[in-house]
Amino acid sequence: MEKEHLPYNRPLIEEEEIKAVVNTLNSGWLTMGPKTVEFEKSIAEYTGAKNAIAVNSCTAAMHLSLIALNIGKGDEVITTPYTFASTGNVIVHVGAKPVFVDIERETYNIDPEKIKEAITPKTKAIIPVHYAGQPCEMKSIMKTAEDNDLSVIEDAAHAIGAEYESKKIGTFGTTTCFSFYATKNITTGEGGAITTDDDKLAGKLRILRLHGISKDAWKRYSEKGSWYYEIEDCGWKYNMTDVQAALGIHQLKKLDRFTEMRRKLAEIYDEELKKVEEVITPSENPNAKHVYHLYPILLKRFNRNRFIEKMSERGIGCSVHFIPLHLHPFYKNMFGFKKGDYPSAEWVFEREVSLPLYPKMRSEDVVSVANHITEVLR
Ligand SMILES: *Cc1c(COP(=O)(O)O)cnc(C)c1O
Repeated sequence: MEKEHLPYNRPLIEEEEIKAVVNTLNSGWLTMGPKTVEFEKSIAEYTGAKNAIAVNSCTAAMHLSLIALNIGKGDEVITTPYTFASTGNVIVHVGAKPVFVDIERETYNIDPEKIKEAITPKTKAIIPVHYAGQPCEMKSIMKTAEDNDLSVIEDAAHAIGAEYESKKIGTFGTTTCFSFYATKNITTGEGGAITTDDDKLAGKLRILRLHGISKDAWKRYSEKGSWYYEIEDCGWKYNMTDVQAALGIHQLKKLDRFTEMRRKLAEIYDEELKKVEEVITPSENPNAKHVYHLYPILLKRFNRNRFIEKMSERGIGCSVHFIPLHLHPFYKNMFGFKKGDYPSAEWVFEREVSLPLYPKMRSEDVVSVANHITEVLR
């Protein structure tokens, strides 16, 4: 049998993106400039948010959101343990304490009921993560936040294009943070964005993402601008570049097409894997539109690590999302978390496998992966 080579993820860059990057290089605008402004406008338009601020990663987007909301020492921030390093790390970076709330075993998203129990007088914000591209229960989360005067910073690294009650992710929380990292649903190589309906907060975020300087570089250096600037705050070097934005503008135009391809492939997986008793396929919240950044299955009994090894021998790349944050050495040592603290996150982690899924995959590839799964589990 010929060995297949199916990675678990692969970005889709087409001719338009390549041309746009070359044009930008020829334009002389290498750092933040008119393309970044154009990209921000398209993100705001696409999500329906009033403001979009482009930055160099989703990590930077969440870090700046916490800073702009004055969250720091002595404060607590509620999030899920079932996420990537960034979500927890940014809380620690501002000097606040991460308070984990366990996930639901159906959606793998933070449990909105358990959030209520975790709130203390020190709680300042909630960071829900839309795991795999499936929106959290935003209605319940926003109600809890309003009742307790908390900010909500959405980690939407997986969820650009996703919808909750027919409204795009990007307009629910105080801020929403997107990632355009190479593996995400659209990419600028590295990159991110913050959306918010709060104009004042948006102004603060714009200043903080570039040294705390009162004017953007493109204004300072353009013919209309001047040499004069003021440092209003102690900001960061978190800006996006025009080379990235040029890529992003074209990727965003294709997002709905990419999403439909992802959803179609997920449907084929659902159909094929329904026949496999050992596999639990991902559930879809009927109130939301899942954009399948990941296609996470759970194995009921078969050893997860052995399964990934066997798939790899067949040339099929699988991955695991995520090792719960409370099981990592830093979080154990710093905050005293231990195994057993978040049973649902651990239960999902021990069984989870992310199958190959990206827009360029063909229907036949999905059927083939499903067939390999059946053989491996036999
Ligand atoms: C990828 C990812 C991030 C970080 O995104 P960057 O743009 O690489 O900083 C944050 N949260 C989750 C859940 C992610 O998967």
